[in-house]
Amino acid sequence: APGTATDPARGGVQLEHVSKRYGEQLAVDDVSLDIRPGEFLSLLGPSGCGKTTTLRMIAGFEHPDSGDIRISGASVLGRPPHRRDVNTVFQAYALFPHMSVAENVAYGLQQRRTPRSEIRERVTDALDMVQMRRFADRKPTMLSGGQQQRVALARALVNRPAVLLLDEPLGALDRKLREEMQLELKLLQSHIGITFVFVTHDQAEALSMSDRIAIMREGRVEQLGDPDAVYARPASAYVAAFVGQQNFFEGPLAEGGRAVASSHVLLRSSGGPLAASEGTAAVRPEHVRIERDTGEPMPDANAVRGTLLGVSHLGETQQHLVRLGDDQSIVVRQPTPQALHASVGDAVRCSWSPEHVQLFPRTDAAAAGGHVDPPTL
Ligand code: ATP
Repeated sequence: APGTATDPARGGVQLEHVSKRYGEQLAVDDVSLDIRPGEFLSLLGPSGCGKTTTLRMIAGFEHPDSGDIRISGASVLGRPPHRRDVNTVFQAYALFPHMSVAENVAYGLQQRRTPRSEIRERVTDALDMVQMRRFADRKPTMLSGGQQQRVALARALVNRPAVLLLDEPLGALDRKLREEMQLELKLLQSHIGITFVFVTHDQAEALSMSDRIAIMREGRVEQLGDPDAVYARPASAYVAAFVGQQNFFEGPLAEGGRAVASSHVLLRSSGGPLAASEGTAAVRPEHVRIERDTGEPMPDANAVRGTLLGVSHLGETQQHLVRLGDDQSIVVRQPTPQALHASVGDAVRCSWSPEHVQLFPRTDAAAAGGHVDPPTL
């Protein structure tokens, strides 16, 4: 039956041509998205691209100006948040300080006049899921940030929603704890099998946790795909810049639209051709080979001489910054055991294969928000 635990559509979320305006500001612009039951889907993008507004419309805190939203197969337009089969976890956990952990988790069920024995059982289950049962009697002020976030999760899970909406839930945690919680959240999600819709501006977080990522730009979904696809086959320079690190080269297109002639090097791609006059070529740091310059002749494309500007050690990888000219440098990343041993100021050559050159019409990759700064270490 629709909406019951055995309904195969339970936990699916469909947005159909959803738009939302605040005055002059078009926050969400004709978004259509089909979120599958049980999947971990991230909404990723820079500040102001419409992630939170999208999430709040699914939750029922905001209402679209046009379009439809369906949860578990039924339209939820006009239904208040508590009558949707969803729950939300915010960055600010908003736990009640005077109540114990167990009371915080039980609160929503008490509001719904759930029988006491059932409350006890569900609270215990929810605290078990987040490994917080032994803290049931503590006050939130006596917990660490990560523990408080777990309680907030338990409180959202206790109603057994079909869909959990998470708005930058790890944003307040320090980096190490954040990375631990990413793993934990992902494990929890695959274990309980409910749909997670996760808002983040952190591309590494989205890549590490998601089944699929919707990359948003100015209220629209620019690309929807699994982490491999958005990383390896970005649909635009914007996505290429926002997800992972890139070296960008700009210039007129050459060779029938299959190469970009930048001022320092010709970048030939195995993809294309592109129908434009100006192009942007992108090469990932891990796809660049670096070696000492022995003065041998250079190939006509995808190879360039430069000067080593610096090396940084990142543990399992090392990063080299190579200057090609006043206006262009290139970042190279290699596994530490294979990394080049050279000193700052040494002459080096960098090269890459045409399969690793991605071409885009010359655009505003800079709109990705600070990710296209000149490369640094
Ligand atoms: P952030 O990561 O900073 O939260 P976001 O991607 O979640 O950003 P939204 O919060 O959805 O973006 O905002 C999208 C656009 O809508 C922004 O330009 C924002 O200023 C505007 N906006 C959001 N909420 C409101 C509101 N209540 N009133 C007016 N404008 C709003």
